[in-house]
Amino acid sequence: MPESQYEFDNPVDRYPHIHPPEAQVPEPGRDSELEPPADHGEASYVGTGRLTARKAIVTGGDSGIGAAVAIAFAREGADVAIVYQPEEEVDAQAIAEQIRGAGRTALTIPGDLTDRAFCDRVVQRAVDEFGGIDILVNNAGKQVFCPDLTELPDDQFDLTMKTNVYAMFWLTKSALPHLAAGSTIINTTSVQAYLPSELLVDYATTKAAINTFTKALGQQLAPKGIRVNAVAPGPIWTPLQVSAGQPPEKLPDFGSQTPLGRPGQPAELAPAYVFLASPESSYVVGETLTVTGGMPTP
Ligand code: NAD
Ligand code: MG
Repeated sequence: MPESQYEFDNPVDRYPHIHPPEAQVPEPGRDSELEPPADHGEASYVGTGRLTARKAIVTGGDSGIGAAVAIAFAREGADVAIVYQPEEEVDAQAIAEQIRGAGRTALTIPGDLTDRAFCDRVVQRAVDEFGGIDILVNNAGKQVFCPDLTELPDDQFDLTMKTNVYAMFWLTKSALPHLAAGSTIINTTSVQAYLPSELLVDYATTKAAINTFTKALGQQLAPKGIRVNAVAPGPIWTPLQVSAGQPPEKLPDFGSQTPLGRPGQPAELAPAYVFLASPESSYVVGETLTVTGGMPTP
């Protein structure tokens, strides 16, 4: 494992080529129970003041990619509110501890993002506690595989849409009145938007919607000085994958199909979000930054 995100090494071997067991847990999966454990940059992410005094909301910031983003943002100088499901309190407290360890304010907001009123409360709480917000990361997501559309439950289709698309819309709409010029919105999409799996029809559909939402809203908000961008991860080792994100028998080979030959770790995603949140990316609007280990996207 690298000592910091700046260490030069061979990306093929930067992280282990893991072979996780064929195990499946109920949703939501937890990082505190993930085997082998994932790296969120706890021991490695080095901040250089790139987000000094910014105020961020990161949905799904308790675990996986969102947890790595929350740690990186805090070490770059931002206060961070993380949003997660009540069952994920242990994960959330560990990440809040990391944020506080960076000398920043952590806000933990458990609840259900498929509830519109909760989305409004998330924004209001962050505004009240931080005195404003200037970064919104719409990262929470639901992914449950289903090989046959006739067996895809209506409520799963509905909840996948609500979690991945509606919550992004509701949070963004609630946040906008509070976002000054220079603020940024970053949405987590997926390589599934470009290379959809036949097992993930509902999920892949939401990710294509997120890409288009990002491009359209990016143009709408650019004249106000608010930039909207997205990050499209490839296969990343997170609890989403072991909680029916895909068939358990596929887990031992997870990520091995990428040109780098291994899954990504959440820590390898965080710098993309930091770049898009910081003014270094001032001329980047409506873009989707892919972090896929080499899986090609159009
Ligand atoms: P994860 O399970 O660690 O994170 C997903 C989070 O979403 C959960 O921690 C949970 O807190 C949150 N969430 C889900 N439903 C919610 C609800 N109703 N209310 C509140 N919070 C809710 O997994 P991850 O892989 O880090 O996922 C983060 C994002 O990355 C998701 O949007 C996912 O689609 C995307 N993504 C992941 C991969 C991958 O390979 N892991 C690849 C591409 C995209
Ligand atoms: Mg979680």
